[in-house]
Amino acid sequence: MPVATVTADALSCICPRCTREASRLIKGRLCVSCYNREREVERGRNAKGTTPRLGARLHREVLAVNDGTAVRVEVFEHVTSRVEALITVAKRATGAVVFSRPRPELPVGYQMELAL
Ligand SMILES: [Zn+2]
Repeated sequence: MPVATVTADALSCICPRCTREASRLIKGRLCVSCYNREREVERGRNAKGTTPRLGARLHREVLAVNDGTAVRVEVFEHVTSRVEALITVAKRATGAVVFSRPRPELPVGYQMELAL
């Protein structure tokens, strides 16, 4: 079995936000706890009626992703860290993937196909 497949399988049950193992991921993305915290941010209040602290940590990450066929500049909205964005990309990978910060002059959505 290819290493990339093994890695993708191992990551399939990992929540990219808290990096904990989860038996199910809501919308294929977050564990139940992280999903509920995100919903609280969207509502603007948590169960105590106060403003969720998570809201201050959510931000946008931009990564250059090279999956061997193309280099793409991708945006990840509402993530808590660059690691969350990296795990999100790794989970959907079907082969080896390389990440980096995009060069400043490359616009979001930039894509360059690689000659194979
Ligand atoms: Zn989580």
